[in-house]
Amino acid sequence: MRIDIATLFPEMCERVFSESIVGRGIKNGFIEVYAHNIRDYTADKHRNVDDKPYGGGTGMVMQAQPIFDCVEAILARHKSRPRIIYLSPKGETLTQKKVSELAKEDGLILICGHYEGVDERVLEELNAEEISVGDYVLTGGELPALILTDAVARLQKGVLPNEDAYSIESHYNGLLEFPQYSRPEVWRGRKVPEELLTGDHKTVREWQEKMSLEVTEKKRPDLYRAFIEQKLSEIKARFITEKNPEITENTRFLALKITKEALKLVLRGKQRELPNNDYRKGDFLILSNEQGVPRGIVQVTKTLENAVYFRTVYKYKGEKND
Ligand code: SAM
Repeated sequence: MRIDIATLFPEMCERVFSESIVGRGIKNGFIEVYAHNIRDYTADKHRNVDDKPYGGGTGMVMQAQPIFDCVEAILARHKSRPRIIYLSPKGETLTQKKVSELAKEDGLILICGHYEGVDERVLEELNAEEISVGDYVLTGGELPALILTDAVARLQKGVLPNEDAYSIESHYNGLLEFPQYSRPEVWRGRKVPEELLTGDHKTVREWQEKMSLEVTEKKRPDLYRAFIEQKLSEIKARFITEKNPEITENTRFLALKITKEALKLVLRGKQRELPNNDYRKGDFLILSNEQGVPRGIVQVTKTLENAVYFRTVYKYKGEKND
C-alpha cells in the first residue's frame, strides 16, 4: 500500500514516520508513505497558497490550484486511482471499521487543510471523501492524517508481528479490549485476576471474552448495545435460514436474559419452564447469557399465569466473543 500526504508541513509527517513500529514497517517495505509540500505547486510568485475568503470573515482559505496540482502530480505516480481523502472536522468520523476498509486499498491520498480550510471546489473536482478524527477542531490536517496513516499502516501485513496483535484489540470486533496485566503478580496489594494465572487457555479466553463485554457495557454502552443488537439479528437470521420456521405477521422474536446455569439447563432440555413476561403462545424467545450474548431460541408452547412452557428450536454454537 502507498499513502501520499499533501501538506504544508511535510517535515512534521516525515519526522513521525521515521520512528517507531510504523517507521520500521516503512523501512522494511511493508508500506510506502510520502509527504508532499503543497507550496511546491503554487503558481503564485510569492509562493502563497491561501487567500481571503469570499463573503468576508476572519482567517484565510487554502486555494484550489496548489492543492489540485499537488494531487495531480501524486496521481501520476499511482498505477490505479487511489482514494482521495480530505481530513476535515466535517467528515465522517474515523472508526476501526473505516480503518479496516481503507487498509484494503492499494493507495490513499490524504489532503491536510489549514487556516479556515480549503476552497470547496477542489474537493468537488477531486471527488474527495472527508474524514474527521473527532468532533473537535485542530489547527491543521497533519495530526489527523498521521492518525489515519498509523491506524491503516498497522493493519498492513508485516507491520505488526502477527494478526492477533490487532484482531483482539478494542474496536476490532465492535467491543473494547479486556484489561491487561504484566509482572509482578501482586503490585501495591492488587493481584492479577486468578484466571490469567491458571495457564489454561480456555479459562483465560473465557475470562477475556467476559471482561471485554463487561468493560464495553460499562465504558461504552452505545457500542455494547450495537454489538448485542447485531448478535440478536444474526441469531434470528441464522435460525430463519437454517430452520425455515413458519413466520406470520404476528410472530414475535423477544430477547430474554437468563443465568448461565439456567441457560445450560434450558439448552440441554433439562428445564422446560421460564417466567412469563407477557409472552404469547408461538413467541420465539432469544435466550441470552448474563452478558446479553444470545445462545439459543425457544418457542413458547403454553402460557400459565407466572410461567411459560417452551420447546427448544435453535442452539447457537457461536464464534469468538459470541
Ligand atoms: N473552518 C473549519 C471548520 O469549521 O470546519 C475548520 C478548519 S481547521 C482550523 C483547519 C484544518 O484542520 C482543516 O482544514 C482540516 O484539514 C484540519 N482539521 C481540523 N480539525 C479536524 C478534525 N477533527 N478532523 C480532521 N481534520 C481536522
